[in-house]
Amino acid sequence: MLSGLVVVLSGPSGVGKTTISRCLMRDPLFRFSISATTRPPRENEKDGVDYHFLSLEEFRAKISADGFVEYVEVYEGVLYGTLRAPLDEAVASGEVMLLDIDVDGSEKIRAMNYPLLRIFISPPDYDELAKRLKGRGTDDEKSIEKRMKRWKKEMECGTSFDLKVVNDDLGACIESVHRAIAARYLRGPTED
Ligand code: 5GP
Repeated sequence: MLSGLVVVLSGPSGVGKTTISRCLMRDPLFRFSISATTRPPRENEKDGVDYHFLSLEEFRAKISADGFVEYVEVYEGVLYGTLRAPLDEAVASGEVMLLDIDVDGSEKIRAMNYPLLRIFISPPDYDELAKRLKGRGTDDEKSIEKRMKRWKKEMECGTSFDLKVVNDDLGACIESVHRAIAARYLRGPTED
């Protein structure tokens, strides 16, 4: 039976997970799990591409219909969730499904039966992360503040992951992540 792999990429907001995911998607074996969220789209984001942007009511209806494998209120009043159907389809058809989700969501996925690799992307240091978040220019001061508050908790949770990769050199970081995924995928589903 064909079986794929779920790869969870977690780490503090602004650490480079989106860029890393985009580069990994050049590998045709990889699929990206498009999450649902109740936050509004940023200027450069498209519905159905970066996220499925839902109203709170739509999000709640999906929860009731058991449409999520996990969902979390990552920031106060803002929900994010991983859709069940595309994830199950990808794993059943032997693909590598990439999830860019927070540490709480990652813990929930860990408690399930998916063939799984959890990778934590860590910033070289706090000042560097603050610089990246501000440099990104997509978030206002208040949401940057919210994101920085979560940083400490996320760094503490990072120790429970299968692999931790420091993003001090983007190219090297992507290569390490890709290599680890390939090794885990080739090992197959039976050797967890
Ligand atoms: P952003 O608003 O910057 O796109 O994402 C904020 C945080 O939410 C990031 O840490 C991202 O990994 C996380 N996130 C995105 N989608 C999901 C999801 O489906 N589930 C969970 N638990 N976290 C998510």
